[in-house]
Amino acid sequence: MTAIAEPVLGRHGSFVSGAEATDAGGRYRAVVNPADGSLLAEVADGTPEVVDRAVAAAVGAARVWRSTAPARRGRILLDIAAAIRADAEAIARAETLDNGKPLSQAASDVESAARYFEFFGGYADKFNGDAIPLGQGYVSYTIHEPFGVVGHILPWNAPLQQAARGIAPCLAAGNAVVAKPSEETPLSTLRLARIAVECGLPAGVFNVVTGTGAEVGAALCAHPDVRRLAFTGSVATGRVVAAAAADRVIPSTLELGGKSANIVFADADLDEAVAGAVKASMVNAGQICSAGTRLLVDERISARFVERLTATLSGMSVGPGIDDPDIGAITTRDQFAKVKRYIQIAEAEGATAIRCGRAVADRPAGGFYVDPVVFVEVRGDMTIAREEVFGPVLSVQTFRDEQEAVTIANDSEYGLAAGVWTADIGTALRVARDLEVGQVFVNEYFAGGVETPFGGVKRSGYGREKGLAAMYEYTQSKAVNIRIG
Ligand code: NAD
Repeated sequence: MTAIAEPVLGRHGSFVSGAEATDAGGRYRAVVNPADGSLLAEVADGTPEVVDRAVAAAVGAARVWRSTAPARRGRILLDIAAAIRADAEAIARAETLDNGKPLSQAASDVESAARYFEFFGGYADKFNGDAIPLGQGYVSYTIHEPFGVVGHILPWNAPLQQAARGIAPCLAAGNAVVAKPSEETPLSTLRLARIAVECGLPAGVFNVVTGTGAEVGAALCAHPDVRRLAFTGSVATGRVVAAAAADRVIPSTLELGGKSANIVFADADLDEAVAGAVKASMVNAGQICSAGTRLLVDERISARFVERLTATLSGMSVGPGIDDPDIGAITTRDQFAKVKRYIQIAEAEGATAIRCGRAVADRPAGGFYVDPVVFVEVRGDMTIAREEVFGPVLSVQTFRDEQEAVTIANDSEYGLAAGVWTADIGTALRVARDLEVGQVFVNEYFAGGVETPFGGVKRSGYGREKGLAAMYEYTQSKAVNIRIG
């Protein structure tokens, strides 16, 4: 493993009103490097009192920010995008150390973060309201108003990219932010807030409170001055966040889990479909909410397909992200245990495991590594076909025809994404129409980008991030109706 001396090391406090906060309790929690289980840094274990300070700072700053000319707001966001790119290499290295993902995938996340600020910076002065035709005697128009203070509660699997995904449109729309990163991976969100202030974002517009969900997250959800919540994480926590929002009658976005089907028809380009199935399930060690974790293959080609798939996976290197292998470590110790448990359950329930991957030389013994596993002979009622594993584990089921493929795909409590591989445009369009999901990728898994709305149906949540849809999520419409006689 490459030796490194990084500025991420050391102690970090929350970030409130443009500066590092002194946390009342003075408690810190360990941030672990999943590549070897060592201590990477320490961050303040925030308290409800720090949340109060952050929200108070945001309330004051929100007034300034919403009255800042939209073009000026956009300019600052574009400057943030440029600053992220200027420091991309160091940011990617730090993200890899914190999260475990291969360096090239962290670099891609950093570029996505820059794209979010660029894309939504461009929208800040172009988000028009409407003129409503009430007739000659009236003038009627709508404007998009910010909520004020928005609380963002974030997960650990793509920390920087997900922070940027929610926060960039939120800021572009004129809101102030209090973000609570995952206690497992808080470093890049802290860094992003610092970059934003260095780029001219007024102090207090973007605050970060580190700490646990039970203490900091819950306090943020319950705070009377937080006017909207944006949550990305598990279904269990999403329920708690949505209940807190309902209690206060404020809106929330829930971006939750998934068990997405990736459907390969017999007429698909099999080279591309194999590569696509690998990418769908193994990027970020499978820790992606929209990962294609249920591979559904036409029974006529399934044996050939699985053979090629497992041959590809067997060549994939698994090791410390900083050395840029194909697959890095699982991000957290708990998740590491959870993935191993799911593999045991699948075997106990009768699925057959094909173990793939190869450990890189000198892989640290204390790292959270799981080599890729493909399960065949999977039935739809098995745990491995129903529950989100969030690891490099793929289950394979077969289907006889288009209708059965759609039925199996929709037989899930989740509805985040799906992949379709076919040479037939009719098949692609019919299946895309019938799938109960928020997005469909045809002949390229994860197709789309910051421009395309993203979110779930069913237990994958509600609301949309990304694209123009996000600007609507972070604003409320006001109608002004004037009788002019
Ligand atoms: P998690 O629900 O455990 O935690 C998410 C965040 O919620 C963390 O910041 C945590 O501290 C906070 N939290 C915990 N308890 C809380 C409470 N009572 N009140 C308020 N906040 C609280 O999820 P995770 O393990 O960090 O992330 C993995 C999950 O996230 C997976 O299920 C994955 O599918 C999902 N995810 C979804 C998307 C998406 O866009 N749909 C993206 C990434 C991850």
